[in-house]
Amino acid sequence: MKWTRGPVIGRGSSATVYLATTTATGDRFAVKSTNLSTSVSLQKEQHILSQLNSPNIISYKGHDISYNTYNLHMEYAPNGTISDMIKKHGGSLDECLIRSYTHQILMGLDYLHMNNIVHCDIKCQNVLVCENGVKIGDFGCAKFVENRGNRAFSGTPVFMAPEVVRGEEQGFEADVWALGCVVIEMATGFNPWPEIDDPISGLYRIGYSGEVPELPRWLSPEGKDFLEVCLRRDARERCTVKELLRHPFVVGVKEFAKNSPTSVLNQDFWGCLEVPETSPETTQIVEISGESPVERIRWLVKDSPLCLPNWIDEEGWIMIRSDQIEESLKIS
Ligand code: ATP
Repeated sequence: MKWTRGPVIGRGSSATVYLATTTATGDRFAVKSTNLSTSVSLQKEQHILSQLNSPNIISYKGHDISYNTYNLHMEYAPNGTISDMIKKHGGSLDECLIRSYTHQILMGLDYLHMNNIVHCDIKCQNVLVCENGVKIGDFGCAKFVENRGNRAFSGTPVFMAPEVVRGEEQGFEADVWALGCVVIEMATGFNPWPEIDDPISGLYRIGYSGEVPELPRWLSPEGKDFLEVCLRRDARERCTVKELLRHPFVVGVKEFAKNSPTSVLNQDFWGCLEVPETSPETTQIVEISGESPVERIRWLVKDSPLCLPNWIDEEGWIMIRSDQIEESLKIS
């Protein structure tokens, strides 16, 4: 298929995302590109995304290699990400929209978990807003659950569940914790630990204290209860995605799609957003090693210069991926 590369619509730490059109029909799609020599992570993403088919997962459209560049083709999300929606709505979303988005993310997660896949990096920046609903994207950290036993820990520390920070396990329950963090971010515009100003003590707090993030006070009782069952520190006590789909917070929600408040932004959405030169979150590939808490926390903050200065406003939270994911996915 011949296609034309258009403007940059997003930058991550591992790749750049462009708007593209097919030469034959002019249909729009998104292309996530990176240099072939550094495309292992993008190829892993292609491997997983190409096997998925759900209304709440961004659709796979193919891939190619041209001019030494690896290109992953995906459905184009004209409204950007939930992070973009939060900014456009003045810093937070109203509860009706939060319930609707949460329900749709849950349906996407249910599909993934039924297919034995843990996403490992659920956050507002990785949930795309399409004309027909929100869809989970960025499968660069995703893994099949049969590989749970390995020591691949990945994601963005501020959204990591306590057991992930402790280096114990990253299973379905970690996606549920991250979903709770997403609800907090939609309600407040901030990450779930906004008061933390030091990365090392912050990671200790997430991993080893008895604390959970503060619940937004203005949320309805159903919303608070939903967060309480997502953000239980003991992963075994957290609700599953199936259980959450029956929670009053999301049961019977009105889906915001074509006639939603977001649809007014469909046209020229990207024209009114600045695409930053660098991503606010930097991906680091870090092999987590060491058995003691001290060693693990050191590995999580090691070599991450952006981790330090902007800890409070989330810009300092780095994404961490273990090299061992490569082995676990066994891409042929
Ligand atoms: P990270 O630093 O989180 O690893 P990444 O390199 O994996 O990032 P993505 O998160 O997949 O890259 O994409 C970067 C940005 O590009 C997203 O935050 C979003 O703004 C934009 N983007 C990604 N996919 C699409 C899409 N299908 N349609 C529209 N915009 C997209």
